[in-house]
Amino acid sequence: MSLAIVHSRARVGVHAPEIRVEVHLAGGLPAMSIVGLPEAAVREAKDRVRAAIQCAQFEFPARRITINLAPADLPKSGGRFDLAIALGILAASGQIPVAALDGWEFLGELALTGELREVDGVLAAALAAGQSGRKLLVAPHNGAEAALAGTVETHTARTLLEVCAALEGRKSLPAAQPLPQRPSTEPDLADVRGQTQARRALEIAAAGAHHLLLIGPPGSGKTLLASRLGGILPPPTQAEALEAASIASTSGRGLDLTRWRQRPFRAPHHTSSAVALVGGGADPRPGEISLAHNGVLFLDELPEWSRHALEVLREPLESGHVHISRAARHCEFPANFQLVAAMNPCPCGWAGDPSGRCLCTPEMIQRYRARISGPLMERIDLHIEVPRLPPSALRTDAPPVEASADVRARVVAARARQQTRSETPNARLSQTQTNAFCRLETRDSLLLERAVDALQLSARSLHRILRVARTIADLAGSAQIETPHLSEAIGYRTLERGSTRAAA
Ligand SMILES: [Zn+2]
Repeated sequence: MSLAIVHSRARVGVHAPEIRVEVHLAGGLPAMSIVGLPEAAVREAKDRVRAAIQCAQFEFPARRITINLAPADLPKSGGRFDLAIALGILAASGQIPVAALDGWEFLGELALTGELREVDGVLAAALAAGQSGRKLLVAPHNGAEAALAGTVETHTARTLLEVCAALEGRKSLPAAQPLPQRPSTEPDLADVRGQTQARRALEIAAAGAHHLLLIGPPGSGKTLLASRLGGILPPPTQAEALEAASIASTSGRGLDLTRWRQRPFRAPHHTSSAVALVGGGADPRPGEISLAHNGVLFLDELPEWSRHALEVLREPLESGHVHISRAARHCEFPANFQLVAAMNPCPCGWAGDPSGRCLCTPEMIQRYRARISGPLMERIDLHIEVPRLPPSALRTDAPPVEASADVRARVVAARARQQTRSETPNARLSQTQTNAFCRLETRDSLLLERAVDALQLSARSLHRILRVARTIADLAGSAQIETPHLSEAIGYRTLERGSTRAAA
């Protein structure tokens, strides 16, 4: 037999399409060519595969070797096909049985010594292989990640030689093992002293999946609060955790298995580029907003971000995903994140502080806040002030505050009500659903109209107030939105006053 077919998987965005590695040996001058749109890295595979085969004491066939990676129109990058190519050459030249390759998918780069090296995007490949019904073979470093998929029989091998011995039936390969479950390392709300109002806003944000803006001077605890949101959100489902882990695994930054089953928390710096934030590159990779999928994206110092970077957030904030077009390639990444933004109240940071140290003029403050466009501001449902606390509130003998687990229990109950009613968190209710599920008594409708008028809010803001009021009612276990629920929801928009007009 001078033809062998080996199965492997490419990485395209967060997907792992199947690749057939076809190896054909023919007479003629010894040569090796790879066809099927290979990039430079795949061409380098030739040298690695040749060295690995020779190091494993096999014979590198002195014939014309043609390797076809099919389908040809898929982009292929990295050394992920090395192992499949080497096995194809060995099978086509009769050094290992061709039939043994059936029912397997292979994923791994080869070192010159024949050692198997890890590749990225293994979780996506394992999930896809689970649907094909084949077994998966990966490097030991990829074993724990592949095992997360839970739907595919995965084995690991250290070297090309071990793989060949197993295919010949002379050796069995260990099954990939998931990492043992560790206790959660999520930071706890019990560490946040005082800040009753901000804690309340955080709970509402969690209960309805609403975006949140924290406004306060440096050191008031905005970052501390934001980092506690993940711990009071409902724990992710298996599907949500797999989706988030799959994205991290294809990001090129590696998957942190110790955070498995915790919601992502991403806090990129304000100097990050738009590409780092939303994703991109010649071989498109997910950005911070996709790494925060099913979790929290924390943007500190909001007015310091470039206008461009903030504007590209608008699409994903509405739709939950982002489209990236680069030359011939088009990718869509999931980006269903919850935004927590933070900013100082003024350029110096101390506006409203009892110390009176802020000397910013109203014009300076207005200009500073107008750096965030009205449309972005509108999409953030809750705006809350986080004042600097008096030293007495920070004393260690201050009474203890509620821990994350207690708050999470209320959040989970409120989410369950929403799931029963509309199958979606309140923040993602459509216009029609908002009209249907957020009805007000006549006197409350008038109250809302007056507030929208006085605060110069848009129709979009009005709908968002209704959804927040719905969440507050859900936390209170109330079927109907009552006046206090609506008033509280309006209160979370008072800081927005006129910002839409100012930026328009
Ligand atoms: Zn100031």
